[in-house]
Amino acid sequence: MVIIDGHCDVLWKMYENPLIDFYAPQQAELDVNYENMMKSGIKIQCFAIYLPESIKQPKFDDYLEYINIFYQKIAIMDKLTVIKNQSDLQQVMNGTKVGAILTLEGADAINDHSLYTQILFRLGVRMIGVTWNYANWAADGILEARKGGFSKKGKRFIKECNDLGIILDASHLSVRSFWDLADHSKKPFVATHSNAYAVCPHPRNLNDDQIRALITRGGRIGITFVPWFVSDKGDASISRLMKHIEHVCALGGEKQVVLGSDFDGFNIKMPGLEHAGQLDNLAQQLSRYYKDQIVENFLYRNWLTFFETSLPIS
Ligand SMILES: [Zn+2]
Repeated sequence: MVIIDGHCDVLWKMYENPLIDFYAPQQAELDVNYENMMKSGIKIQCFAIYLPESIKQPKFDDYLEYINIFYQKIAIMDKLTVIKNQSDLQQVMNGTKVGAILTLEGADAINDHSLYTQILFRLGVRMIGVTWNYANWAADGILEARKGGFSKKGKRFIKECNDLGIILDASHLSVRSFWDLADHSKKPFVATHSNAYAVCPHPRNLNDDQIRALITRGGRIGITFVPWFVSDKGDASISRLMKHIEHVCALGGEKQVVLGSDFDGFNIKMPGLEHAGQLDNLAQQLSRYYKDQIVENFLYRNWLTFFETSLPIS
């Protein structure tokens, strides 16, 4: 089994608790750890820089602290390759090591400093979710009461990311911000960890128009394992999760469904999908309903084809 996962919050846990060792055997503090990656065949994992709400005024230094953890404790050269461009991607897919892509969730501390965006790119950040749930200088998030879109500065930021080769992530954006992004991004964008609103009416999920927009623009929809994004009835399970995949496929998104577990970002888990070592349970369930080729598309190939065209060439 080969898997690519578009979102996890491992770095946040490691930032909160510096004693956590990603490579320690039976590392129960982390849902995604090296052992679980090996067990499930996770070939590429995206690691998000997510500053917790307890940091009232996020600073660029806070990003640097996360990036330092990533390079010091996760990017261990003989085990894991940091993917920054298409040749790194091919090297990982053809080799024995696993790969990691550094991403950012919440551009708050960039604060319209173009230099900061460029530095983040140089340090390896290849995907940015512009907001978390609330507003910042660039855009409004999904729980911001005024339900606004992108600011002028935010629209400039979209262009800058497009030009640099940073993929934009619409998860957590307000509905209006989503459409602003759709209007202003010249490159396909993704929602790394959002399910289908029609299946589970949670504000963090995508409505059908949003899903269709991602499909027609060649984006990706990252099916996520957060129980309250899976079901609003308190009965989240792998079979309920399958309904989201089915729904995106019914809208024509068979080639756009990807995984965005959000592991390590939430505490209450679905039975059988409690950590990244259990992805085989999902693969088995998918195999009951879809042909092997399609299951492989969901598990990794749809992400792979996206990264093959969206990551910088070199
Ligand atoms: Zn998130």
